[in-house]
Amino acid sequence: MITRTSRILIIALLLISFNLSASKLKILIVTGGHDFDRESFFQMFDSFSNLTYTELIHPEARVQLGTVDLNSFDAVVFYDMPKTITDEEKKSYYRLLNAGKGLLFLHHSICAYQDWPEYESIVGGKYYETKKDDKFGTSSYQHDVDFNVHIMQSSHPLTKGLIDFAIHDEIYGNLEVLPESYPLLSTDHPKSNILIGWTLKKSNSKIVFIQPGHDKNSFNNLNYRKLIKQAIIYITTK
Ligand SMILES: [Zn+2]
Repeated sequence: MITRTSRILIIALLLISFNLSASKLKILIVTGGHDFDRESFFQMFDSFSNLTYTELIHPEARVQLGTVDLNSFDAVVFYDMPKTITDEEKKSYYRLLNAGKGLLFLHHSICAYQDWPEYESIVGGKYYETKKDDKFGTSSYQHDVDFNVHIMQSSHPLTKGLIDFAIHDEIYGNLEVLPESYPLLSTDHPKSNILIGWTLKKSNSKIVFIQPGHDKNSFNNLNYRKLIKQAIIYITTK
């Protein structure tokens, strides 16, 4: 026989557990098209309290983003680098933008879809694998570089509480950054693009791009983790 007190206690526990799961941020993580350090990448997301994730993998991910229930997640993290996309699959991205879903693009995701010009306007910049023109040329990369991440806007919600920090990661040189991208992170490494992190608004979505993120040297870096967590919270805040 369940006493009245136990019944109240059971209901209270159910309500608490419901609230805990309801308050967790739910994100989709899109991968595929580029190898990566899976274990340490997902360990970083596992370390974030109040966050759950589902991985979508290309080529299915491009279709799934067009059909997934928009109420079932808060934001999308892109850590992918597919080369091609059909017109039908592009609609998946427009759907996310129309719904105002926050989008965080990491590292090599800026190199995806080289032949889809509008992708650049979603990410806020582009890595040119082939020469853009005689004036701009191509972009470049270099692995295993020690450099400093400079926090340009210390009062911005994405970077608050962070000060300049050192990181060991891959750098990209000569990125195109669109004028509408609001600068948040930079570096003084001579071979790197100066801007390495920015945010922009596209349609109804808040978008962030963060360039570092090649492997465990970033994923295990506590400053980098704080940056990624705050970026996810920022893009999900209306
Ligand atoms: Zn890389």
